[in-house]
Amino acid sequence: MPASPSASHLAHHTSRAAAHPGARADVAPRPCLVCGARGARKLHGRRSPLVRCRCGLVFVDPLPSEEEIAAREDAAFHGGLRDETAEMFTAYYRNYPDDPVVRGFRATVDRLHELTGGGRLVDVGIGTGLLLHLARERGFDPLGVEISPGAAERAREEFGVDVLVGDFLEVDLGEPPSAITMADVVEHTHDPRRFLERAATVLRPGGALFVAVPNHRSTLFWAADLLMRIPPLATTAGRLYVPNHYYYFTPATLVRLIEEVGLRVTAVRGESPYLGRYRFSPPVRLGLAALIALGKMTGLEARVEVYAVKPG
Ligand SMILES: [Zn+2]
Repeated sequence: MPASPSASHLAHHTSRAAAHPGARADVAPRPCLVCGARGARKLHGRRSPLVRCRCGLVFVDPLPSEEEIAAREDAAFHGGLRDETAEMFTAYYRNYPDDPVVRGFRATVDRLHELTGGGRLVDVGIGTGLLLHLARERGFDPLGVEISPGAAERAREEFGVDVLVGDFLEVDLGEPPSAITMADVVEHTHDPRRFLERAATVLRPGGALFVAVPNHRSTLFWAADLLMRIPPLATTAGRLYVPNHYYYFTPATLVRLIEEVGLRVTAVRGESPYLGRYRFSPPVRLGLAALIALGKMTGLEARVEVYAVKPG
């Protein structure tokens, strides 16, 4: 893993960090993306790349380079990172009407249609293309933006949807979208603030943004952080921290970032993952199911979804 970020847009972070050569080893040199504070502390001991800011944001420090991040996304698409998600990924190429994930995506496009009245919907980071397909069924004019050429090609074949291959920060979207969706995307990016700023810029006035991420303020991460202190369990518990996630948000940190880019948050919802298509051993599955049930009861659910609109 490279020792420092190489991207030009992070140069100001790097140079500010360099102004503090006496930084302590257990403190991140990089300021927090959400609140700007320094002094984020190591989350799982000195050798861990994860740090937590006092505002609640957990992030990887130092960040891998943008090239390394792109390589990991391609590896993830080809199933190279995790065995337990390979089967799930295949299943998402099918539009099962009773699948909880399909139902969740359908509810999302329904809510966005209520907020915007339809028009162009841009899905950033298309996954399999299923959300684009469901958006078209709902009456949207869908367009995908995807960094992985393989994923874009597969979605075109499976669902016949339009997909631009490239970086959302750079592609020309043409007409301003009515809706933008980012499901499980910003935590994979080099700089989530720039992604959200770009969304706020390109949306038409009155347009709506949907963002969904893993929720670090959840029973699942609480248990993982606890179990990671117990050496025999640390490896299993640590699998919740996946190698291509660089930011772990709480509802508060995600809402703050979305409002700071100029959007008005209209709804914050907890969501629980559907375990049916993950490949786990029975004891792990049982433990996860219990934690997810506890999350539903306490409101500390494993995922958080935010809807926001552009004033105007
Ligand atoms: Zn912070």
